[in-house]
Amino acid sequence: MTDSPFEELVKSLFKTSRRVDTALAELRVIATQINTKYEPRAQFNRWRDSEEGKLWKQEQHQAQGGCCAIAKCGKPIQLKGSHIDHIKPLSRFPHLAVDTQNLRITCPECNIAKSNKITMVA
Ligand SMILES: [Zn+2]
Repeated sequence: MTDSPFEELVKSLFKTSRRVDTALAELRVIATQINTKYEPRAQFNRWRDSEEGKLWKQEQHQAQGGCCAIAKCGKPIQLKGSHIDHIKPLSRFPHLAVDTQNLRITCPECNIAKSNKITMVA
């Protein structure tokens, strides 16, 4: 017994719907991959872990005299374990993720305390 034209249409719509769902799922995977690669925190982490980022940190540590950049703190800090702070927070200024004009080195306590606030004292 063959399907009526209506039944064939319904079956065809279900197949199309499944194909669309599959395509959307594939797009979501690709979108996640793109976001993972380009989102600002990932971009910053890659730069920080690169030779360029490590060299910048060494030079910046020297330029700051080996001290925390937060003026009211200013305590001596070891290069290892010090934090790179985004003066304008990454969460609000993602385009400045790896702009060295927006970066400075702080002790961990100051960086964590600062969170996403802006402290213009450099
Ligand atoms: Zn500090």
